[in-house]
Order: sequence, then structure tokens, then C-alpha cells
Amino acid sequence: MTRPTPLQLEPLTGLLAGVRQVLSPHFDARPQGVAPELIVVHGISLPAGEFGGPWIDHLFAGDLPADAHPSFRDTATLRVSAHVLVSRDGNITQYVPFGMRAWHAGQSQYQGRTGCNDFSIGIELEGTDQIPYTDAQYESLAALIRVLISAYPTLCAERITGHSDIAPGRKTDPGPAFDWGRCRRAAASQRPERLG
Ligand SMILES: [Zn+2]
Repeated sequence: MTRPTPLQLEPLTGLLAGVRQVLSPHFDARPQGVAPELIVVHGISLPAGEFGGPWIDHLFAGDLPADAHPSFRDTATLRVSAHVLVSRDGNITQYVPFGMRAWHAGQSQYQGRTGCNDFSIGIELEGTDQIPYTDAQYESLAALIRVLISAYPTLCAERITGHSDIAPGRKTDPGPAFDWGRCRRAAASQRPERLG
């Protein structure tokens, strides 16, 4: 297996170099002095259970056509985003700079702290709760975790959670199909290349 080129994050812009970007209007500033402290893993598919279409881009870009699928009528009214999406083939798309607040978590709580969008980075994996995520997705997720932990000293391998964990009863993603052991092993083996 070839070793993938490490991702590079431009700290001034909060954007990944060489990664496809579809910048979303659905973001704003984090609260004053708040840095990313938590990574939230999500699963998403549009329409539900279908992969490879352009619709997630459109949802986050705010131009999902309500008449393109019966299920889009309500979805199209949502103003949501995530920082990045990892497609089934492992390709990454960035929608929101990491320093900004993406609108991915909704009403949520992590270790007693509400409003997780304020202090988290949202990573969407294209998938469903029940269909195993792909090897390519785990590899890209690991690369993302590595570059994010390196870029933000406020992040660490232990502060990675699922949408279902911060919004229990309301959200189920990334679902039982997501292999947390695999994610955590990858994160733990990727100590940041930081001194001190
Ligand atoms: Zn989610």
C-alpha cells in the first residue's frame, strides 16, 4: 500500500491545501477566544442510502433543489454545513474553514457543555448508520485527525465523538456501522508532530 501524501492545513485560512473546496454560506465566527476542542464524526447520505450524488454539496451550499427528490422538500430548507465531507472513495471536500463555526451539531452537549458547534470541528462521512464505511474513508479520516491535531493544540486524540453522542435521542449518526475502535486506534497512533 502506498503511503498517502499528508494533508496540509494552512493555519491563516483554516483551509486544507490541495483539497476540493465548496465553500458554504452556512457558517459564522466562533465565540471570542474559543478554539476547536472537539472533533465530531457524522454520517450523511442524500437521498438517504444513496451515495455519489452531488446533493450533499448542494445542501451545504444552500442550493439543494427541493424538487429533485421527494425527501428534499424539508431538507432543502435547512441551513446546515460541516467543515469537511469524506466521500465513499475517500475524497475530501471542505465547506467551512476550520477556524470558523460550521453548523453541523445542532442542539448538543459534550461533557456538560452545550452548543457544540462553538468549539468543534464537524467531519461528515458519506454513509448510513448500517452500511460499513469504506477503508478509504477511514484512511482519510485518520489523515484529517492527524492534520487537525497538529494544527490545533486544543484538539487531541481523546476528544473525538459522534453526533449521536452529543445529541442522543435526536441523532443516530454515524451509527453502529462506524468502527470506533478503528478510528481511535488510528487517532492514538498519530501523535502530533509538535515539540514540547
Ligand atoms: Zn450528524
